[in-house]
Amino acid sequence: MAIEIPSPPKIGMVSLGCPKNLVDSERILTKLRSEGYGLSPDYAGADVVLVNTCGFLDSAKEESLEAIGEAIAENGRVIVTGCMGDEADAIRARFPNVLAISGAHQYESVVGAVHEAAPMPPSPYVDLVPESGLKLTPRHYSYLKISEGCNHRCSFCIIPSIRGDLVSRRPDAILREAEKLIAAGTRELLVISQDTSAYGLDLRHASYPLKSGGEVRAHMTDLARELGRLGAWVRLHYVYPYPHVDQVIPLMAEGLVLPYLDIPFQHASPSVLRAMKRPANDAKVLERLAAWRSICPDIAIRSTFVVGFPGETEEDFQYLLDWLDEAQLDRVGAFRFEPVAGATANDLPGAVPEAVKEERYARIMDKCAAISAAKLEAKVGRTLDVIIDLVDDEGGATGRSKADAPEIDGEVHLRDAGHLQPGDVVRVEIEEADDHDLFGVPLPA
Ligand code: SF4
Repeated sequence: MAIEIPSPPKIGMVSLGCPKNLVDSERILTKLRSEGYGLSPDYAGADVVLVNTCGFLDSAKEESLEAIGEAIAENGRVIVTGCMGDEADAIRARFPNVLAISGAHQYESVVGAVHEAAPMPPSPYVDLVPESGLKLTPRHYSYLKISEGCNHRCSFCIIPSIRGDLVSRRPDAILREAEKLIAAGTRELLVISQDTSAYGLDLRHASYPLKSGGEVRAHMTDLARELGRLGAWVRLHYVYPYPHVDQVIPLMAEGLVLPYLDIPFQHASPSVLRAMKRPANDAKVLERLAAWRSICPDIAIRSTFVVGFPGETEEDFQYLLDWLDEAQLDRVGAFRFEPVAGATANDLPGAVPEAVKEERYARIMDKCAAISAAKLEAKVGRTLDVIIDLVDDEGGATGRSKADAPEIDGEVHLRDAGHLQPGDVVRVEIEEADDHDLFGVPLPA
């Protein structure tokens, strides 16, 4: 029996402007060709046409607009990129049917737009990887990266110098990836980035069309809502407490997004936060936490803290411990300050001796274990949803409640659970608790 291999979509390219633009066109085509796309030398044979524009002079802009018009007239399915992409409104005003617009050097956006406009037909005979990509996590949970880089300049961190400023992925591309992951068995999406609350700032929170109709704004709240509608658990990591984060809490109360926020506060003392140059360093955070809990009482807040930051006094540290008493965070990780090569914090006065760092580390861990133990004890007797990670040979299983992210938070240990499978979400009666974990039994379905 002859096996029919589906032919790949073909891409047409009109490259205008300077040699730098030409190199960008080459990079885009190289990427698409390496993914298996074909190239078309003419409009007629192309499934979609890319117009890489120049916007250097008014005459170059006019030439770009004419080239877009010609591609639309000859083919109709046109994606615009390059310097003129920064004037998306002018392009859309003249050519409302353009499929997507991105600015110069936004390779991922262009390639994402091609995937959207002319997806490669899946074929088990030629595809080296499944549609959802290769994963290093278990099948039932997946990390979903929504942006790269960071606009902040925290004094202890060198990520912006390595990864650059914030570059957000298009929300439609993120949703498409999430759909593929869920189709391949993912039951929990872990949304990650350097700063999830800043998502879409660089895209000016523009709206993008959805395959299913309608559109989605490049904004954390809108993205979280759309991800929640896909039916998997959605867990938000690396969120800073900007005012707009308040809008996500009702989504948690509605059950669209897990009642969980991972907020790396890093400290509480105002002087240490100032020296750290932390974003959203707001003295009213405790009031915000209280307001969130009033809307969504089950919300679990996870955070990390640095102890022994240069200049941290005993008063600063005690302020942090007192703040933790009030904040009653559910999950806390702590780190002793380390002078990472290249971080500006290394030049700050007041280095804290290693022995003092150790002592503070032990004190914060004790404090947080006590808070965690009390919060977990309060869950004994309750019934919680648990996602199963592991089933052992002795009838037990290990899973996580909605308050627990994999690897970094606690676990729920189940007895009489040999019939379960990883990825199952079951109702569990909680029977016991210790400092970090819960123990229980699954209820009949
Ligand atoms: S710590 Fe986070 S927010 Fe601060 S600069 Fe580094 S990546 Fe950005």
